[in-house]
Amino acid sequence: MAEKLSAVKGMNDILPASVPRTEKLPDSGLWQWFDTTVRSVMARYGYQYLLTPIVEPTALFVRGLGEVTDIVEKEMYSFVDSMNGDRLTLRPEATAGIVRAMNEHNALYNGPLRLWTVGPMFRHERPQKGRYRQFHQLDVEALGCAGPDVDAEMILMARALWRELGLVEGEHVRLEINSLGQPQERRAHREALVGYFEQHAAVLDADAQRRLQSNPLRILDSKNPEMQALIEDAPQLLDFLGEASLAHFDAVKATLAAVGLGYRVNPRLVRGMDYYNLTVFEWVTDQLGSQGTVCGGGRYDGLIEQLGGKPAPAVGFGLGIERLLLLLQELKLPVPDAAPDAYAIVPAGAPLPRVIATLEALRAQGVRVLQHAGGRDGAGSMKSQFKRADASGARFALVFGPDELAQGQLTVKTLRGDGGGAQELRSLADAASWAASLR
Ligand code: ATP
Ligand code: MG
Repeated sequence: MAEKLSAVKGMNDILPASVPRTEKLPDSGLWQWFDTTVRSVMARYGYQYLLTPIVEPTALFVRGLGEVTDIVEKEMYSFVDSMNGDRLTLRPEATAGIVRAMNEHNALYNGPLRLWTVGPMFRHERPQKGRYRQFHQLDVEALGCAGPDVDAEMILMARALWRELGLVEGEHVRLEINSLGQPQERRAHREALVGYFEQHAAVLDADAQRRLQSNPLRILDSKNPEMQALIEDAPQLLDFLGEASLAHFDAVKATLAAVGLGYRVNPRLVRGMDYYNLTVFEWVTDQLGSQGTVCGGGRYDGLIEQLGGKPAPAVGFGLGIERLLLLLQELKLPVPDAAPDAYAIVPAGAPLPRVIATLEALRAQGVRVLQHAGGRDGAGSMKSQFKRADASGARFALVFGPDELAQGQLTVKTLRGDGGGAQELRSLADAASWAASLR
């Protein structure tokens, strides 16, 4: 036998529940449920769907995310296009590509845009539970909107999604918010911060030493336990915010309070990309170990201009779909049943074209029917067919016996739920009317 090939490390297949999986990753049924739910929530808020390429010029991310960020420093899958020498990168996040696209198409010319997309992102990280090299995000962006009402809208959309999926805010997921102020406020804070860390240079680890001049704010994000006390007492950005920034933050908080959404102000929440200003937020959970951030976002008023567009404010968030589905899986929350309504059993001698014509009529009525697929020598014993019917999770088995078919009938057997075990003869002629009863 030829040698089997494996997927790239950290990149996973998303498989149906019926396929045995080595790693306990969420099955494709959960993914589909998430997709359906997201679509309906986005429509409720008037957001429009878009897709942008998975590969972008490397320069887009270097300019967009900032040179001294984890992503640009060490996580990007970059390569040279051997055909023409272009420097390209598999997108590590979605915002930069969306802004690039909107700038390219002068999309903001007619006013603000509210957009969403879903798709794979790529980061060269150490694979572990909730952290992969190919992962998927829901990404939501509002471009051209300056007000704190839209910051709140972002947060509330995520809450609406939690509620649809059965997650309880405050219990399964918690909201943390912060304000990063404006560039000049951050500069003043940065100076104070550099001064403070220089005074305590002996306690800084190598990473922090390096960041002291390039990106001291990221030191606050350090997970090194030996630096936590130092970080705890560092000057806080919130103390450097001016009136306008504070008013913006207060307006967001007032809206959250008005809709009864609890939150914690976390002064150390800085987020990984350089483009953020004013409001930033994260939805976190305690159930996924150190990969606890399910969703993160904030305002990025400078990015559109920085990437060559006419200056316009914007706000958005990214949600890690694998982490969210792992959380749903962990909590064992009820998920709508993806099983077929009925399983069609085809005994030896049944006229297949006639059977298939009947199944087509049922499917046209919206019934989900899985046909037992025959081999070259027929469909297999009744016993093995019923076993498969059972395993499919279908509520009904449709048995197309040749004798009944000849009389324009078939047998409907209830496999599970109310009336399990019962069976009755139905007329093919009124397939449409009894189709409704199968749903
Ligand atoms: P973390 O601090 O966990 O590395 P991040 O700040 O790098 O997250 P963002 O860039 O804000 O993450 O991306 C938004 C969301 O995408 C995260 O909150 C998380 O749910 C998800 N995410 C980020 N990186 C990964 C990854 N390597 N694998 C799976 N999900 C990820
Ligand atoms: Mg990261």
